Amino acid sequence: MAAESEQRILRRNRPGTKAKDFYSWPPQDFNDMDTILAVQQYIQYMIRKDHTDVDAILEPPEGHDDLAVWKYEHLRQFCLELNHMAVRLQNECDPVICTKMKATEQWIFLCAAHGEPKECSALDYTLHTLHGASCLLNSNKHFDSRVSIRESSVQRLGSIARRIYRIFSHAFFHHQQLFAEFEGETSLCLRFTRFVTKYGLMSRENLLVPIDGVSSPVVSQQDEGGDEGGDEGAGETEA
Ligand SMILES: [Zn+2]
Ligand SMILES: [Zn+2]
Repeated sequence: MAAESEQRILRRNRPGTKAKDFYSWPPQDFNDMDTILAVQQYIQYMIRKDHTDVDAILEPPEGHDDLAVWKYEHLRQFCLELNHMAVRLQNECDPVICTKMKATEQWIFLCAAHGEPKECSALDYTLHTLHGASCLLNSNKHFDSRVSIRESSVQRLGSIARRIYRIFSHAFFHHQQLFAEFEGETSLCLRFTRFVTKYGLMSRENLLVPIDGVSSPVVSQQDEGGDEGGDEGAGETEA
């Protein structure tokens, strides 16, 4: 019986498993994933299968129609993977050189992880913003369930996306080789750009990294307006 043989497959990375043997178990149909983490498992499976097929990764599986959970789980996954980029930036993004979080020369982003938004170095901005995003995405107050998410909490996803996107733009404009290598291994910026465009989480003029068919570099900027934190700056400085 299919159900019986299915039960015997333990999808675990046991202690001592070599990196090359990670996740070496057969795929599972989304509707057979009997866990509240099914959406996360499915997304991670699709990424392992082919990280370059971003459209397939962003397409909800048949049988899943909760878009709020779908968007939430993708954003969690982006934060997880951006931490890998942050580790690489730690070796290269020197706070003495990248004293401020910049993308192009026109943009300085303020770090919103403090009582008052402030000019953190690019590396500190990266670490503080990822930490803040993960605190928010794991907060019992706003996201107390992985299977159902309130509309008021869904609205927070856009500002998280906008802030963590700046890590891509800083890497692209200031650490091009690091960005290119990471993107080649993960297609993460491409997937992120398609994701925020598909779900209207960011406006196109904020997408500074050129991605074919989605965004193009922007020459001049205007204030993008406030959000719930009241921490937006204008044009040249922004949180
Ligand atoms: Zn830097
Ligand atoms: Zn900071």
